[in-house]
Amino acid sequence: MKTIGLIGGMSWESSIEYYRIINQTVRHRLGGLHSAKSVMVSLDFAEIEALQQQGQWQHAAQLMIAAAQSVQNGGADFVILCTNTMHKLADEVQKHIRIPLLHIADATAQRIKAQDLKKVGLLGTQFTMEEGFYKDRLTQSHGLEVIIPTRQEREIVHRVIYDELCLGQIKQASKDEYLRIMDHLVQRGAQGLILGCTEISLLVGQADCPIALFDTTQIHAVAAVEYALASPGSAPGVAA
Ligand code: GLU
Repeated sequence: MKTIGLIGGMSWESSIEYYRIINQTVRHRLGGLHSAKSVMVSLDFAEIEALQQQGQWQHAAQLMIAAAQSVQNGGADFVILCTNTMHKLADEVQKHIRIPLLHIADATAQRIKAQDLKKVGLLGTQFTMEEGFYKDRLTQSHGLEVIIPTRQEREIVHRVIYDELCLGQIKQASKDEYLRIMDHLVQRGAQGLILGCTEISLLVGQADCPIALFDTTQIHAVAAVEYALASPGSAPGVAA
C-alpha cells in the first residue's frame, strides 16, 4: 500500500471527511483492522483565506509547495490537495515535488465520464466557478461541457462556503438557497452537478437532488485509496 500525503486544513471541516472516507474505504477494500497509511500537513485556513482575498497567489503557492515537500519528506508516495480552490496552484506545486499530485478535477471527470454524462453544473468558490484552472481542465482535458450559476447565485454559493460551511455551520436557509440554485442548473440542462468545494457535501446530498451529484470530497478520497492500493507503476487516477 502506498502512503497518501494529504494537504488539509482548507478547511479542516472537510479534511476530517477525507480522513474518515480514506480509512473507511481501505477497511472496506482490505477488511479487518486495515487502515490507510497517510501523512498530513494541515494549514491555518485563516492565513490561506487572507491570501486568496488579497490575490497573493504566489505567497499561497509557497505555502502549498512547502506543505507538499513536507508530506513528501514525511514518506508520502503521492499527494492530494484537500480543496478544489487551491488546485489553482496544482501545476506549480507539482513542479516542485518528485511524487505525483492526484488532481481532484481529473478524478471527478473520470466519474462523470463513467456515467456517460456530457453537460455538468459546477458549484464551488467563485475562484473555482469563474476562473479557468478548474473548468478548463474539465472541458479541454476531459471533453465535458460545464455550466455555472448566475453571478448573483455564485455570490451566494461562495458566501455560504466561507461564512458558514468552513466554520462548521449548517443552516436550513442556506440549504434551501443551494437547492434553488441547483434546480436552476438542472433547468438549464445540467445532467449532473459537481459539488466542487469540499465542504458542500456537508450541506446537500444525493437525496436532495433528482440528477447525479459528484461529491468531490468523496470522489477524491476514494481515488486516493484506489491509487494507494493499485499495483506499482500504475498511473494516478487508474483504478486498482
Ligand atoms: N474547501 C473549499 C474548496 O474545495 C474551499 C476552501 C478553499 O478556499 O480552499 O474549494
